[in-house]
Amino acid sequence: MNILEVNNVSKNYGSLYALADINMTVGDGKWLSIMGPSGSGKSTLMNIIGCMDKPTSGSVILDGQDITQLSLTDLTVIRRDKIGLIFQQFHLVPYLTALENVMLAQYYHSMVDEKEALNALERVGLHARAKHLPRQLSGGEQQRVCIARALINYPKLILADEPTGNLDEANESLVMNLLHQLHQEGSSIIVVTHSPEVAKHAETTVVLEHGKIAQIIDNLK
Ligand code: ADP
Ligand code: MG
Repeated sequence: MNILEVNNVSKNYGSLYALADINMTVGDGKWLSIMGPSGSGKSTLMNIIGCMDKPTSGSVILDGQDITQLSLTDLTVIRRDKIGLIFQQFHLVPYLTALENVMLAQYYHSMVDEKEALNALERVGLHARAKHLPRQLSGGEQQRVCIARALINYPKLILADEPTGNLDEANESLVMNLLHQLHQEGSSIIVVTHSPEVAKHAETTVVLEHGKIAQIIDNLK
């Protein structure tokens, strides 16, 4: 069973092809990394897989369902139920505490479960920082709040777009350890990164160039 099948996906802006006929599959429970130069289409691909954007053509099958056929409302539901998102820029709400930011994920369920949010913060080692605002936290701590927010619904698929891009080495390894923990618990993972070291945590690395797959590397060999 595949968690993800990307079939002949293209995305163009006028004459610019951000993605040109991408085909790839990710098996259930697998970890994939995506590398490639700036502008090669990595974020465009992640946004399409993450139900935040639609391809111009082609299909994306997520957990057996063709998400390219769904309405925006249905996409929101799929994102809520199946996907955990982690970004380079953290995307935390600046005037909400760490705890409230994690609980935001729950607002979609029209149910605010403070206990579960605290539990998620505990899992990333930030229980004691629950009442802090993002600006009172270090970059590494902010990224761990994001991970707590991403893992709260036990997502089948974690999408992380340059999750360690703004972090020093110590925080990078904390974040990678958390991703390994989620992977062991059964989540499939896709990580976009510029770092070969980060990419090697995955079983497979796909290299994009000019919106096309230039190379597929088996990291287990
Ligand atoms: P990467 O994440 O690999 O740096 P992106 O996926 O962000 O690359 O972008 C791929 C290409 O698509 C780039 O040339 C970028 O300028 C272009 N692009 C991305 N989003 C838009 C948009 N909304 N409108 C026009 N061009 C875009
Ligand atoms: Mg990008």
